[in-house]
Amino acid sequence: MGKITGFMEFERIEEGYKPVADRLKNYGEFVIGLTEEQSKTQAARCMDCGTPFCNNGCPVNNIIPDFNDLVYQGDWKNAIEVLHSTNNFPEFTGRICPAPCEAACVVNFNDDAVGIKSIEHAIIDRAWAEGWVTPRPAKVKTGKTVAVIGAGPAGLAAAQQLARAGHDVTLFEKNDRVGGLLRYGIPDFKMEKSHIDRRVQQLEAEGVKIRTSVLVGGWPKDSKVTNWAKETISAEQLKKDFDAVLLTGGSEQSRDLPVPGRDLDGIHFAMEFLPQQNKVNAGDKLKGQLRADGKNVIVIGGGDTGSDCVGTSTRHGAVSVTQFEVMPEPPEKENKLMVWPYWPMKLRTSSSHDESAEKGLLQREFAISTKEFIGEKGKLKGLKTVHVEFKDGKMVEVPGTEKEYKADMVLLAMGFTNPVATVLDAFGIDKDARGNAKATTDFTGGYATNVNKVFAAGDMRRGQSLVVWAIREGRQAARAVDEFLMGQTDLPR
Ligand SMILES: Cc1cc2nc3c(=O)[nH]c(=O)nc-3n(C[C@H](O)[C@H](O)[C@H](O)COP(=O)(O)OP(=O)(O)OC[C@H]3O[C@@H](n4cnc5c(N)ncnc54)[C@H](O)[C@@H]3O)c2cc1C
Ligand code: SF4
Repeated sequence: MGKITGFMEFERIEEGYKPVADRLKNYGEFVIGLTEEQSKTQAARCMDCGTPFCNNGCPVNNIIPDFNDLVYQGDWKNAIEVLHSTNNFPEFTGRICPAPCEAACVVNFNDDAVGIKSIEHAIIDRAWAEGWVTPRPAKVKTGKTVAVIGAGPAGLAAAQQLARAGHDVTLFEKNDRVGGLLRYGIPDFKMEKSHIDRRVQQLEAEGVKIRTSVLVGGWPKDSKVTNWAKETISAEQLKKDFDAVLLTGGSEQSRDLPVPGRDLDGIHFAMEFLPQQNKVNAGDKLKGQLRADGKNVIVIGGGDTGSDCVGTSTRHGAVSVTQFEVMPEPPEKENKLMVWPYWPMKLRTSSSHDESAEKGLLQREFAISTKEFIGEKGKLKGLKTVHVEFKDGKMVEVPGTEKEYKADMVLLAMGFTNPVATVLDAFGIDKDARGNAKATTDFTGGYATNVNKVFAAGDMRRGQSLVVWAIREGRQAARAVDEFLMGQTDLPR
């Protein structure tokens, strides 16, 4: 523990943001990380409590008190060793993790939590800047081959762990670039894609073969899920060619809103809109990019994806941005006595909300349901809504609250229902009630599907979740695969 009285002496320090006017001019990151001195002060607030709830609140179980102490002592090199021992990609989580660790921080019980995420961010950025992040190829090769299908955070973490265990790993990705939803969902202003590219170089130097634009299994006709594959490989072929297969294909099927007027021109899934902007940022030339310029945009869905649509529409130059959430407005502050150390339900206002509000564009509506889209000559003009409430556990309409909104563009951001079924079906994988790949996370036999030598992890197994959960599942599944191949494993869980 760095400073015994630190938590009493110092206030939490927030990371800085560039001014809204500047950041709306482009799609670059705008968070200003902590300085060395600020990081030291932030770390000094850690109480190194006997039972570090933060460590349990973090899905990858980062050893938070230890790296806090090392940062306080100025030992940044060992801090990154500790961080990397549990998390392959702290630059991803240090930027976009919602930080459940901070909700669980003991200081958070009656004060502001230690800014754990900002310390993680500072450690990994410093490590890259100092050249401490280098490839760690296996010293001994096993001669075993593993195919990993899907190069999101789960697949990347698994591929890295398996390659470091000495296996020959090939990572297949149907899209033209690696990263999954980190690449083609999360906007660049939350995480620039150079962070993924740098890790791809590291993985390749560690021996991972990466094959982009290759689809494994089949693909449904008329699917709106991104698929830029130029080649298809069958499940049978992969099972023949590899000693083990790990499916990390994500949960990409967007939830639809099948109300009257859904087929009008102007209604799109968020995951049609967001990937296009990321492609343009990457320098691709697109014909007819979906753009919000000069439009009244309504985003249906109040989560992260919806917020990313708000930020992107604001940058495009929308004239109004309205976001609907079907659930009632949560309280601004949680009752910590009731919820700590768990993730609290409270009103979350993102940097995208702040930007849009500062431009006078944003309207947020809660407890609202869309009944119908209205249009003229096939083109969207607006939509009809009604307010809803929960009675006896059921959602019911509130009479007399019907309303019409003007809309030139509607973005559906209501979450994801399940993985695209064709890849699971191609392998004959049993699914759970939600359509995810059925596999447990048990210590023994976890991540194994019903099909011999085929494993599943990440959103494809647990349903749409978080990057940090995908990294955890990728790491744990790698361990399960290694154990399956070698009869024992030294990989951490
Ligand atoms: C817009 C948006 C914003 C988000 N914001 C955040 C956030 O701020 N913080 C956070 O923690 N999480 C966020 N998430 C969630 C997070 O991105 C996901 O939980 C995470 O990426 C899941 O990782 P994964 O590796 O399991 O799957 P994915 O990231 O979905 O990757 C799966 C990959 O598999 C590929 N694939 C699928 N099928 C095949 C096939 N048959 N053959 C070859 N390749 C295939 C896909 O193309 C994809 O690249 C967000 C999600 C979205 C959509
Ligand atoms: S990965 Fe997320 S939960 Fe874990 S320490 Fe970092 S910010 Fe916290």
